[in-house]
Amino acid sequence: KRACTEKIKVLVTGGTGLVGRALESHVISDPQPNEEWIFLSSKDGDLRDMAQARRVFELHRPTHVAHLAAMVGGLFKNMKYKLDFLRENLLMNDCVLECCREFGVSRCVSCLSTCIFPDKTTYPIDETMIHNGPPHDSNFGYAYAKRLIDIQNRAYHEQYGCMFTSVIPTNIFGPHDNFNLQDSHVIPGLIHKCYIAKQKDEPLTVLGTGSPLRQFIYSKDLARLSLWVLREYHEIDPIILSVGEEDEVSIREVALMINKAMGMKQGIQFDGSKSDGQLKKTASNSKLRKYLPDFKFTPIQQAIDETVQWFCENYDTARK
Ligand code: NDP
Repeated sequence: KRACTEKIKVLVTGGTGLVGRALESHVISDPQPNEEWIFLSSKDGDLRDMAQARRVFELHRPTHVAHLAAMVGGLFKNMKYKLDFLRENLLMNDCVLECCREFGVSRCVSCLSTCIFPDKTTYPIDETMIHNGPPHDSNFGYAYAKRLIDIQNRAYHEQYGCMFTSVIPTNIFGPHDNFNLQDSHVIPGLIHKCYIAKQKDEPLTVLGTGSPLRQFIYSKDLARLSLWVLREYHEIDPIILSVGEEDEVSIREVALMINKAMGMKQGIQFDGSKSDGQLKKTASNSKLRKYLPDFKFTPIQQAIDETVQWFCENYDTARK
């Protein structure tokens, strides 16, 4: 339990997204008497616009900010809309961080991603390597916008003493994800495809060879870790929030786990003519492990089972 009993008011941008919803359900299940939480959607204000962002900050006057709002998407959306990913995220991050400064926010935690690291690198990737070379061409718009958050955090600290930091999650999945067939990340996209394939009594088709390796983090685990960062992590430098290197899985294994969770009997086929993206981007979680050696991640099959169950139960209203 925390020693600090000061009243804090946390504003969560992107509060209606995958991570925001997971954070919200965690906070509801474990309320702290000295904390008030506000979860924003884009309907509360377009954070690309400084006047609207200021209105939101003026209304809520937060002491802490979890900045999750972003234009987000999987490989194929990233390849198609590079300028939109760059501009929308640059604008949003600039407005939110500047409002944090103007309104005297004492802690702001923003979200980067392991997919913004240099393409040509050594593995495992760690927090010190973000700016060591160009990102993969498939998502350079998103990557450069996100990298700049780290630069902004350092500059806000050096010029104004602000305590803004960032977390670097690997691929996230869970309830309330975007399950759109074109624009989603790999797990929600495959869950939706699998759901349709099962109804049509066809095999699940996976784009690419299935061989790329990824580390996935369940949104509920990320919510618990993000809360710890907001409350107890006092560095400006980012921290990777990920399962260990030994828990990296191939897309093929993920597809098998989804098929199992869905009770699919029709098997899987791979369309090797489609892009695989980066073959791997293994990240080290040793900084996290130094702080939290005993943190237990949810086993991936269990997390996929829960996500598939949530999707099937909420099919009509899920984002798709
Ligand atoms: P989602 O796409 O699920 O949610 C995005 C959120 O941002 C929504 O609440 C959305 O509001 C809000 N938003 C989007 N545009 C605007 C805008 N112009 N003004 C105000 N709010 C806006 O995102 P995730 O939860 O998946 O991602 C959270 C963070 O984690 C992001 O910063 C992302 O870059 C990062 N991340 C995500 C990964 C992943 O695998 N998903 C991997 C690594 C990092 P509304 O619902 O009203 O549209």
